Order: sequence, then C-alpha cells, then structure tokens
Amino acid sequence: MSQVPFVFQNSKSGKKEPFLPKDPLNVSIYSCGPTVYNFAHIGNIRSFLFVDVLRRSLLLGGYKLNQAMNITDIDDKIINESIKQKISVEEFTKPWTEAFFKDLDTLHVQKLEHYPKATESIEDMVGLVETLQSNGLVYEKDGNLYFSIQKFDRYGELSKIDVSGMKSGVRYDADEYTKDDVRDFVLWKNQKTEEEKCWHTRIGKGRPGWHLECSAMIRKVYGSGVDIHTGGIDLLFPHHENEAAQSYGAYPKEEFVGTWLHCEHLLVDGEKMSKSKGNFYTLRDILEKGYDPNSIRYHLISAHYRSKLNFSLSKLEESKTAMERIQNTIYRVLETGDLWNILPKTLGNLEFTNSDLLKINLEFINSLADDLNVPKALASVFELVRIVNQFLDTNTNLIGSLFLKESLELFYQINELFAVFSFDKQIQSLDGISEDWVLNQIEARKTAKQNKDFSTADKIRKELEAKGILLTDTKEGITTWKRAQ
Ligand code: AMP
Ligand code: ZN
Repeated sequence: MSQVPFVFQNSKSGKKEPFLPKDPLNVSIYSCGPTVYNFAHIGNIRSFLFVDVLRRSLLLGGYKLNQAMNITDIDDKIINESIKQKISVEEFTKPWTEAFFKDLDTLHVQKLEHYPKATESIEDMVGLVETLQSNGLVYEKDGNLYFSIQKFDRYGELSKIDVSGMKSGVRYDADEYTKDDVRDFVLWKNQKTEEEKCWHTRIGKGRPGWHLECSAMIRKVYGSGVDIHTGGIDLLFPHHENEAAQSYGAYPKEEFVGTWLHCEHLLVDGEKMSKSKGNFYTLRDILEKGYDPNSIRYHLISAHYRSKLNFSLSKLEESKTAMERIQNTIYRVLETGDLWNILPKTLGNLEFTNSDLLKINLEFINSLADDLNVPKALASVFELVRIVNQFLDTNTNLIGSLFLKESLELFYQINELFAVFSFDKQIQSLDGISEDWVLNQIEARKTAKQNKDFSTADKIRKELEAKGILLTDTKEGITTWKRAQ
C-alpha cells in the first residue's frame, strides 16, 4: 500500500511543507517527554495526546513508525525533592514514571517503540560533550561545562531568536529557563553538594544539563537525526534551539531534524496551565469530578494542535455531548443492522460501494494529512452521523444492510484515531460500565432485598437507571437487565 501524502507546518520554516521522510516504512519521530517529579497536568497531557494523534494519523496514512519519547528523570526539581525526602533519585522518580504511563493507558495512548531515560543515557551524553569539545564549542567555568553560542553561527536558526545583542560568556546553568534570554547554556554540571546525585565520568564528576539528554538520546536510539521532532511550544526556545546547537555543533554535516512540530498550550482563563502558576488539573482531578477518560481524550484532541485551547469543565461537558452523539449513532447502526459480531476489515483496505461514504472517508484522511486537522476531520465524522441517522430514520428492515455495514467500517476506522468509541454490546455505556459491574450491582441489590433493606435495593435500581440500565424482575425471582433505548 502506498502512503497518503502529508503536509506539516514545519516550525523551522514556519510554512506548510510536504512530508518527505527518508523511509516511509520506518519514520523516525522523537518527542520531548515528561519530567517525572509529580503527576502530569492535563496541559502536559495535551502535548502527549498530540503525539498520539500524530502517530495514529500517520499509521492511518499507511506509514510505519519508529517513535521515541524521553523520560527526564534527572533535573534540579528531582534532585531537590529527593534530597528533601531523603530517598534516592531512582526511588523518587519511579512512582511518577509509573503514574505517567498509567495516565497514558487511561487515555488510550498507543505505546511507542522507545522510552529512553536520561539516567540510562549518561555515557551517550558524555560522548556528545567530548565531540563538542573536540569541535571547539565548549568551555569550562567553576567545574561546569558550557556551550559557547558565539562560536556557533547557526544559533537561532530554528527559533529565529536574535543573538546579536548577546555578550560573550553570559551563562545559564539552571534547568528552567527564562524565555527569550539568550545565554551560553550548561552541558555538564559540577556536583555542588555531597548529597547531590552525580556520575563519575571522563568529563568530570557531575550530571548533565537538561538540553543535552535529547540530542544524545536521539543519536542513541536512531544513530543519526530524525524525520520529526515534537514538543510543546514552550520548548521551541531555548530547549529545541539548544538541542539543535548541540547536534549540529557535534555533527555539522548531518540533518538533525527534518520537520519540527510544536503543540500549542492548554490555557486556563487565558493563561498557560502550569505547575508553577498553580492553575492546573491533573487527570485524576478531573476523573474525580465524575468525567470519564474518553470525554477528556476526545476534548483534548478535538482542537487543532496549533490552536490554544482554553480549558473549562463546561467546554468538557460540550465535548462529552458531541462524543455521545457519535456513539449513539454507532449503537443504532449495530442494533438496527444486527452487526454486533462483525469484525473490522483490515484497515487501510476499506472499499466503499456507497459514494457518500467513499467521499467522507477521503475527506477524513485528507484532513489528517493536512497538518493533522482534527477539527476538519471531525466535521466529516458529523456528516457521517447525519447521513447515517437520516438513512436509519427513512428505511426499514435493515438487518444485514450493506450501507450500515460500510458505515460501521468507516466508524471503526475513525476510531483508530479517536479511540473513544465502543463497538461492544457488553460495554455500551460511555461511563465505562462493564457487564461484570452491572451483575455485581444486581447481586448487591438481591442481598439487600434478602436483608429486607429495601431502601438500599431501591437506591441501586435508581443508580443503574440513571446510567441507562433497566432491570426486570421475573416471576422466577431472576433479575435481567437491558440498556434503555
Ligand atoms: P514537562 O513535564 O514540564 O517537561 O513537560 C512535558 C511537555 O508538556 C512539554 O512538551 C511541554 O511543552 C508540555 N506542556 C507544558 N505545559 C503545557 C500546557 N499548558 N499546554 C500544553 N503543553 C504543555
Ligand atoms: Zn527535549
């Protein structure tokens, strides 16, 4: 199968460009991942879902992928917290790394091929610094090693930052940076106190600066540069500019990144959601308010990745309603056509005899191929919902209908991107209710009745009703259940 041609807004040129990977059957994509010192907030999660949208869109387009996302498990915050808690850096970061993967699982984010950790890539970082040293781009001050921006004439190429006003030897060695402040950045940090985590290496006793890890890990995983590099927009400068400086500084003849993609911020009341501002929700915060993971995923991916998204619970509620409209149509198709047990055809080989479905399928994939335009792809989904509902409203006797079968295949394909819809008879509720859970509730109600606790029995019935599950008590004393229509 050949690939659907994609275009991407490349941050390097600021323009939409045709996507031309070196090998469409082995596309290399590197994404800046989490710093594991706390639960990710849903702003961070937006940037990880963006990577999932990129992955799923390219897969739908027929590409094969080799993706990596780094885990930053060493930085100032991590060191300070682990010292405060009197535990090792590894002990401190382990539960946060697990929480990160759990969040991704909850949101149906596909696993990538590689998750390199900074602490497991120290040798690669040391090697990179040595190459930069031999290329004359490194100087030492107080035991720290710095990258000399003035000696590297391509600095600013990516972010278009102006370096002309920079005084020579102005240094920065913290892991968090002030935006737009151009300084020589630290590659390797000298150990400051005895309790600080450090490595004994050929370039000294200390630890890497934050930017170094991504350049080194890209080389470690791929042996050279990558087709696509992604991150949140706040990483464009200085993080990605510094990554590019390190990589081109060490290997000037090699292309480091073909396409740079940057995801816009999630905002709260017009301001960037961030830990330091305290205006953030974690995924758990929102789940505790009674929202299901699917609504959150649907909401966060339905805006274009290059648009700012202002987060509010009422907007989340609107997305939930929109998502349920699509889900209800899927259930209508399954029920009316009696198509519950049909398996999806091999994706990418969809053949539609119906011209409307053919057109919607093309529009859907072409919208994704146009710089991941999910809002436009969603418009095609709602067009599908409209024509399918119209068909269901105006036709009868639809068991085994070819149109419904083909519509279902199209919904399956759409769900390869959204990953929030259910095609399963047992799990028909968007709240993730399983048959097991319903049977447990029925059992609890039976026990309550046996104990003459009729108010609890009644409460259970009402709770189930509120979730769209209707109970019927038969004369034989058996309780059956069905979904409300
Ligand atoms: P961190 O864990 O802080 O290293 O950040 C992980 C990712 O989340 C990076 O790609 C950031 O650019 C991204 N990010 C941080 N805050 C936001 C936000 N409010 N909206 C979207 N992405 C964000
Ligand atoms: Zn990075």
